[in-house]
Amino acid sequence: MQRNIYFFQEAAAPDPFILGGKGANLAIMTQIGLPIPKGFTITTQSCMVYLKDPNFFEQVLSNQVLKAVAALEELTQKNFKQSTDENLLLVSVRSGAPFSMPGMMDTILNLGLNDARVLLLAKKTNLAFAFDCYRRLLQMFADVVYHIPKENFNLLLKKAEDDFQQTCQQFSLQQHQVVIEQFKAIYQKQGLQFPQDPVDQLFAAIKAVFQSWNNQRAKVYRQLHKISDTLGSAVNVQEMVFGNSGLTSATGVVFTRNPATGEKGLFGEYLLNAQGEDVVAGIRTPENIHHLQTQLPKAYQELLHYTQLLEKHYRDMQDIEFTIEEGKLYLLQTRNGKRTAKAQIQICYDLVQEQMIDKKEALRRIKVDDLEQLLHPTFEANALNKTQAFAKGLPASPGAASGIITFTAKEAQQLASLGHKVILLREETSPEDIEGMIASQAIVTSHGGMTSHAAVVARGMGMCCVTGCEALHIDEQTKTVQCGDLILKQGDIISVDGTTGLIYQGELPCTMVNHDQILSQILLWADEIATVKVRANAETPQDIQNALDFNATGIGLARTEHMFFNKNRILTMRKLILADNFDERNKALAKLQHYQEADFKQMYQLVQDKPMIIRLLDPPLHEFLPNTAHELEELAQDLAVDIAYLKQKIAKLQEKNPMLGHRGCRLAISHPEIYQMQVRAIFNSVITLRKSGINIVPEIMIPLIAEANELSYIRQQIEATIHKIFAENHIQPFEYQIGTMLELPRACLKADTLTPYADFFSFGTNDLTQMTYGFSRDDIAKFIHFYHEKAILTFDPFQKLDCDGVGKLMQIAIQHIRSIAKQKTIGVCGEVGGDPDSIFFLQQIGVDYVSCSPYRIPCARLAAAKARL
Ligand code: PEP
Ligand code: MG
Repeated sequence: MQRNIYFFQEAAAPDPFILGGKGANLAIMTQIGLPIPKGFTITTQSCMVYLKDPNFFEQVLSNQVLKAVAALEELTQKNFKQSTDENLLLVSVRSGAPFSMPGMMDTILNLGLNDARVLLLAKKTNLAFAFDCYRRLLQMFADVVYHIPKENFNLLLKKAEDDFQQTCQQFSLQQHQVVIEQFKAIYQKQGLQFPQDPVDQLFAAIKAVFQSWNNQRAKVYRQLHKISDTLGSAVNVQEMVFGNSGLTSATGVVFTRNPATGEKGLFGEYLLNAQGEDVVAGIRTPENIHHLQTQLPKAYQELLHYTQLLEKHYRDMQDIEFTIEEGKLYLLQTRNGKRTAKAQIQICYDLVQEQMIDKKEALRRIKVDDLEQLLHPTFEANALNKTQAFAKGLPASPGAASGIITFTAKEAQQLASLGHKVILLREETSPEDIEGMIASQAIVTSHGGMTSHAAVVARGMGMCCVTGCEALHIDEQTKTVQCGDLILKQGDIISVDGTTGLIYQGELPCTMVNHDQILSQILLWADEIATVKVRANAETPQDIQNALDFNATGIGLARTEHMFFNKNRILTMRKLILADNFDERNKALAKLQHYQEADFKQMYQLVQDKPMIIRLLDPPLHEFLPNTAHELEELAQDLAVDIAYLKQKIAKLQEKNPMLGHRGCRLAISHPEIYQMQVRAIFNSVITLRKSGINIVPEIMIPLIAEANELSYIRQQIEATIHKIFAENHIQPFEYQIGTMLELPRACLKADTLTPYADFFSFGTNDLTQMTYGFSRDDIAKFIHFYHEKAILTFDPFQKLDCDGVGKLMQIAIQHIRSIAKQKTIGVCGEVGGDPDSIFFLQQIGVDYVSCSPYRIPCARLAAAKARL
C-alpha cells in the first residue's frame, strides 16, 4: 500500500517528487545530523488524491495524521492535543512542491494554540509573546483556510493599540483577550468560527494547503516556470520553534553565496525577536547577517558551520531558513538558492575551482537562458555620466530598464497590455502581484531586503529589481511617489539599474554587457567539449569584431549584398542595373569592384587566417531599385534620364514571385560579369594581404543552387576569372575554395550530384524552410499566430528548425555528401543556426559548424557543448 506520511528521520532515499523539495531536504538534513525541529511530511500524491476526491481525507488520511501526531508527541515529549499539559507542542503546516515556488502556496504557523493553551504558553514564556503567536495563528488561519484578508486583523490591532494607548507588547491579559475576541468576531461576521480543538485546526490547515496548489498565483507561477500541474504539493507538519521569544531569539534567511553576484560567503538577513514571515514579507527591513556575529556569536558560528556542511552535501549554493530560539539554532529548511544568471555563472565557476563539481557538471547547470540574461542590457556609461540618480535602493536583481511608473500590479498589467513599458513601484510586493510583475520591465520596492518577495521573484525571472529603496514615499491612493523634494506621478518615466540599485528620472539609453572574464572561461570549457563549431554571420567591421570578441571560429556567411546599401554604393548599383550599354555597365562595375575590394581587405584584416565564407550576390536586382517617388526623382536626376523612361525600365524588372525568381546563382547565369567583379575584388584584396604574410584561403559561396549544371557552369566561370587574375599578377596559384549553399529542397535531394563541384556546403535554412513549407519568410508573421492559436504549429520554423521536415532534407543531403566526400565541411548559416534547440539536432545529424549573428554566439557555444553532455 502506498504510504501517505513519512517522518523526517525515516525516508530512506528522500524523493522530492514524493516529499516535495522542502520535505526531502528536511529529511536529508535530519539524517545528516543537523538541528532540525522534528516533524513529518504528507506526500504530494496524497495532495493529488485529495484534490480529486476530498473524501479521501476523512476516510483515509485523517487517521494516519492522528497517528503521526501521536508519534510526534512521543518524539518531542510534548503534547499537541491536551489543553492542560504545560509541555505544549505547537506545529507549523507548510506547503512544499517538488520544485520551489517561493511564496506561491500557503503556510500556517503556531497551530495548536487556543484560548486555554495561550495562557499555558504565556506562563512558560511571556504574555506578549504568547498572544503575538495566537494572533498570528488567528490571522493566518483566516487567510489560508477562509481567505479572509489579513489586513482586517492588522487594522483591528492598530485600533486597539490606539484605544488602549499602548503597544501590544504592553497589553494586559485582559486587553489581549479583548483583541482576541475582536479577531474571532471577524470570523463570526462571516458565519465562521475559529476551531479551538488543535486537531480540527490541523485538519483544516492541511486541507487548505492542499487546495493552495490550485490557487491563481500558484497556477500562473507554474505556467511561467513550466512546472506540471499534476505534481501536487506535499505538506510538512513540524514542531514550532520560536524566533519571537525575546532578544536572544531571531529568524532569518541566509544564502551560502551572494545570490545576485555569486560571491562566496554567507549572505543574508535576520530579524531579532521575529517570526519567519517577517523577513520574507519585507515588512521590517532586516539586519545584515554578519551583524549576528556580535549579537548572538555562538549561534552565528554554528550557522556558519552548518551552512558550509549543507553546501558541501548538495554541492550547490544553498538558501537556508533558520530560527534561533533562546540562543539555540534550528535550521528550518534548505534548498538550492535562486540566483541571477551572473551569480549562477560565478558560482559554477567557483565550484569547479573548489573541486566540488567538474566542468561538465558546471556546463550542465548553466542554462542557455542564463547566458541570454547576462547579455541583457545595462545603461550606457556616457549617459550615466551625464545624469544623477534621485534614489538608491538594494541591487536585488541586475539589468536595466526604463518605463512609466505605476503603483499597482493590476495597472501594470493593463498598461503593459496597451503596449507601454512599465515600472512597478510598490512599498513591497506580495504573491498576488505576480501577474503585474511579469508584465513589468522592472520592479522597485521601498521596503524589504535582498530576500524579500520582490527580490526572489525578480531574480527567478531574470528581471531588473531594486528593493528597500527607503527614500521613496509611495502613495498608492494619490498615485504619487515622493523622494525628497521630487514628486513623480503615475505615467512619469524612470530608469532603474538593478545592478547598482540606482534610480534615475527619464529614459536612459542601454547597451549590452558581455565580455565578462568568468563567462569567457566557461565558454572555453564549452569549446573543449563541443564538436560543432560556431561561426558568425557578419560583414561589417563592427559585427566581425564583435564576432571575434565572442570567439567565433570564423565567418560562416558574409552577405555581399549588404555591402551595397549605403547612398553612394546603391546609386552605383542602380546605374549598373539600369545601364543601357557596355560602357555604362563597365564603369559601374569598376566602381563597385573598388568599393568591394576595400571592404574585403578590411574584413580579411580583422579575420586574418580564420575561415571566412563570402557569398556572392543573392537577392533579386529590383531590391536595389527606388521605392518612393522621391527616390525615383533623385535617381532620374542622377542618371539624367526621363522619369517615365525610368519607370518603364523598373517595371520591366519587377517579378511576380521575386523570391522564386531572378536571384542567386540565376543572376550569375544571366549576368556573369557581376560575380566576375566580386571574385576580382576578393582575389585582389587577398593577393595584397598575402604579400604581407597573412595566409588567407578565400572561400566563395554560390547561393540558390538547385541543379548540378548550374554549379558546374558557375564554378567554371569563376575559376576562369581566378586563373586570369593569377596570370595578370604573375603569381603562383594559391589555394581557394568554391562552395555552395543548400537552400532548395532539390539541392538537398540531389546533393550527391553537387558534391564534385563544391568544396564545402552551407545549409541556408531560411530559404530551405521557405521552400519546403512554401511559407513566405517575409509574410509568415501575418498568419503564424493563427497556427499557434489553433495549435496547428507550436513554433515558428524560421526560428526553430523543423527537424521532421526541413531537418529530414538536411539529413538526406549530409548522407549523400558524406558517402562521397567525408572531409568536406558542412555548415548551417540560416537563423536557426543560433537557436539552442536546433543546435542539439544539428549536432546529431553531423553538421560541422553553425553560423549565427554575433550576439547569439555565446549561447550557441554553450548549446553546442550541451548537445554533447
Ligand atoms: C538562408 O537562406 O538561410 C540564408 C542564410 O541566406 P539568406 O538569409 O541571405 O537568404
Ligand atoms: Mg538564402
